[in-house]
Amino acid sequence: MEKNGQRCGRLVLLPCPFQGHINPMLQLGTILHSKGFSITIVHTQFNSPNPSNHPNFKFNTIPDGLSAEDISSGDIASLIQKLNVNCKSHLQEYLSQIMIGRQGSHDDIVCIIYDELMYFTEAVANFLKLPTIILRTTSAATLLARTTLAQLRVEGLVSFRDFVSQDLVPNLLPLRFKDLPFPLNRNLENFTQLINDTYKMRTSSSAVIWNTTDCLERSSLACIQQQWEVPNLPIGPMHKLGPASPSSSLLKEDTNCMAWLGKQTKNSVIYVSLGSIASMNEKELAEMAWGLANSQKPFLWVVRPDSSTNGKRNKVLSQFYKETVGERGCIVNWAPQKEVLAHSAVGGFLSHCGWNSTLESICEGIPMICKPCFGDQRVNARYVSHVWKVGLELENELVRCEIEKAITMLMADKEGEAMRERAKNLKEKIELCIKEGGSCNNSLNKLVEIIMSF
Ligand code: UDP
Repeated sequence: MEKNGQRCGRLVLLPCPFQGHINPMLQLGTILHSKGFSITIVHTQFNSPNPSNHPNFKFNTIPDGLSAEDISSGDIASLIQKLNVNCKSHLQEYLSQIMIGRQGSHDDIVCIIYDELMYFTEAVANFLKLPTIILRTTSAATLLARTTLAQLRVEGLVSFRDFVSQDLVPNLLPLRFKDLPFPLNRNLENFTQLINDTYKMRTSSSAVIWNTTDCLERSSLACIQQQWEVPNLPIGPMHKLGPASPSSSLLKEDTNCMAWLGKQTKNSVIYVSLGSIASMNEKELAEMAWGLANSQKPFLWVVRPDSSTNGKRNKVLSQFYKETVGERGCIVNWAPQKEVLAHSAVGGFLSHCGWNSTLESICEGIPMICKPCFGDQRVNARYVSHVWKVGLELENELVRCEIEKAITMLMADKEGEAMRERAKNLKEKIELCIKEGGSCNNSLNKLVEIIMSF
């Protein structure tokens, strides 16, 4: 779509600085670059992506004003609120500078695409008279669950007891109260404010991009489209649409595990990862370690190194443990997850059910054991186990015998086989959506049309 060998303008992309948000935004950048646009990624100092993996993009860092306490607090909602205050003037200054002298050129900024959580962008774009598009990196069902949770909080109809309640949420089947996207620190006040702030922006932007697909979430997407006037464009799973995106991992990937996977038999390995934020206390870590060991199945386990984990990690994953599991276990700090899930040796994924991990697993036809921790992971886990029926959920406290039982069920029982079959069917349906004429592809064409109309 280049005109006379020149790109069709520059898109400024603003990711929210967490791994699960950076990945889809950079994937979107790769897709839109392949459609002829130049890409600039504007990012915070905190969790900044590695530019050398993306030589086709320009990168610009803006100061975020976050303190070490903000970063280590675990209060993600208030960290995001701070970013929305601290980054505004820096973004405005940067964009004003680069716009000077470019009007009408092929490198003119056509539009800003921002993560829904970086909503300060809307005011900056208004000031500079630039159009905006929002990227939502969660499932559509999560948006409906978040707005319901915020509403229940305002009406005083939800409390911390609901964190474990099995009661069904009215009008949100099959979600129970315990599946609602409670935040990590359970501070519902900050959370409600953040939901309201992001929700308001939908009317000012020109479109909303979703990293989801019709064939997984038709009814949730239809329900949202009924309430919103802007076009909703489900172009997910973005990592499968367009050219393969280079890694945007913030931690170094340990690629040795691929050689280990190469030695395992087809569908034999259970892959275990809780994503980039969720973590386990020492007891949970020990239960997981011995659940995996006792399952007698080969396992590839990501245990992230961080200041709170290192001590307990050394204690639990002792020499004795390593000798007990021997070659059957491979433990890494961070894995090339998409390649791992695409490897024929992997037969199951024990996951926290972050939305990216969920999509990546479904796209490879891998059934899941869900161990959600907070936020949208709870909603996704319920959909995996009760809507798409491609996995089972570990509902209670993590204990080794339950983990062992779940692994045996998924990897060796009839029930697990049926889940694998359904996961394969879903994978095939998604492949059709991505092809020319499929719903994801049509939404992508619509997105390009909208951008070209600015
Ligand atoms: N990921 C990875 N290596 C790992 C663990 C995770 O590359 O060892 C990637 C994974 O492929 C996914 C992202 O990190 O794209 C995590 O996003 P997700 O939404 O699943 O969870 P979050 O980290 O946001 O909780």
